[in-house]
Amino acid sequence: MKKLLSYLLLSAMVFCLAGCNEAEAPSSNGDTSHITASQPHESAGENTNVSISYTESGFESAPIKATGDFFAMDTVMSLQVYAKDEATAKEAIDAGAAEIIRLDRKLSTNRPKSDIYRINEKGEGTLDEDGRYLMTRSLDFYKKTNGAFDIAIYPIVKAWGFTTSEFQIPSNATLEKLLPISRTSELSYDADKGVVKFNKSDMGIDFGGIAKGYASARLMDIFREHGIESALCSLGGNVQLLNGKPNGDAFKVAIQNPFAPNEDYAGVLTAIDEAVITSGSYQRYFEKDGQRYHHIIDPTTGKPADNGIVSSTVVCKDGTLADAYATALFVMGVDDATAFWRSHADEFDMILITDDDTIHISEGIADRFEPMDQRFSNINVLSRNG
Ligand code: ADP
Ligand code: MG
Repeated sequence: MKKLLSYLLLSAMVFCLAGCNEAEAPSSNGDTSHITASQPHESAGENTNVSISYTESGFESAPIKATGDFFAMDTVMSLQVYAKDEATAKEAIDAGAAEIIRLDRKLSTNRPKSDIYRINEKGEGTLDEDGRYLMTRSLDFYKKTNGAFDIAIYPIVKAWGFTTSEFQIPSNATLEKLLPISRTSELSYDADKGVVKFNKSDMGIDFGGIAKGYASARLMDIFREHGIESALCSLGGNVQLLNGKPNGDAFKVAIQNPFAPNEDYAGVLTAIDEAVITSGSYQRYFEKDGQRYHHIIDPTTGKPADNGIVSSTVVCKDGTLADAYATALFVMGVDDATAFWRSHADEFDMILITDDDTIHISEGIADRFEPMDQRFSNINVLSRNG
């Protein structure tokens, strides 16, 4: 275990902070009693404080290593930059945190002032630059994943209480009513004007499955603009790296053990200048009568995806794509996810962990992944040609 401390373990660290609190969910009706939640739901504070700590990095080109921690987008965020001095590091971290808070305010489905809240209330509205980018990409991902990634799943996510933490199990009748309106194919989008319009009433959109990946990609741009050449972020366990360490060495990114997310790591991936983004059934969930219900919804059933995958990690340069695909692979299940990877192997690599303790890893990254837990002695390396 000691060896682990020397690794970059931000994803695990942040989840320990967020996930160690077992919270009793507020109970609003009969269905929500005796529900335990994975983490308390809090909205990002209006006065988000970024606490920054500085240490000596030991690297001549960037002697200061600064880490900024704060809470936004309903999770713990950690930014780490290597810089020539403290002032440069602070500016980069402050600018990065400000960007995330800006995106959170704009994209949140819960904040009455957010663009998305407004559109969901009215059934139509105009997106600005960030929204247009996310909408265009989300439509593309919807098509490519054959509907597994679907931002219009929002009415169903809401029915399960994942937006408010007032958890409940929707009846089959409710889901049958919501399924036909919870599809991207029912929304119209004018890309030139940025105008989105719902074709049916009570529809809604939610960029929750892609927002953190987009935010991490934006962070890399901001760090670069501040002259930083080596940095990383962990946004609720979603990691993106700017280059490697100041001496060019790779970073080591821990992949959480989905069966013991606060204690242990499934393995460590060596990586440079890319995103390592994970969706897991342990990240946001509630339990009722011994059954776990998590927040990644299979758009064909309206229920939490239940196909044996317990965590899906996407590795690639594009943080936005990585986040969307991590969510989509989780929904697809191993066989469809593997077929999907084979037809998009130029775009990304992946690590899927299944409930039979197997790690399925695409061949492009297999040689830089080191399992850390004996539980996962079963490693299935996926080849491009099957
Ligand atoms: P996390 O936000 O924990 O990193 P994900 O990226 O997998 O995890 O996003 C899960 C969130 O995405 C859910 O909370 C919900 O808002 C939304 N979501 C759930 N199911 C889907 C889906 N099939 N397609 C797109 N978004 C989804
Ligand atoms: Mg995602």
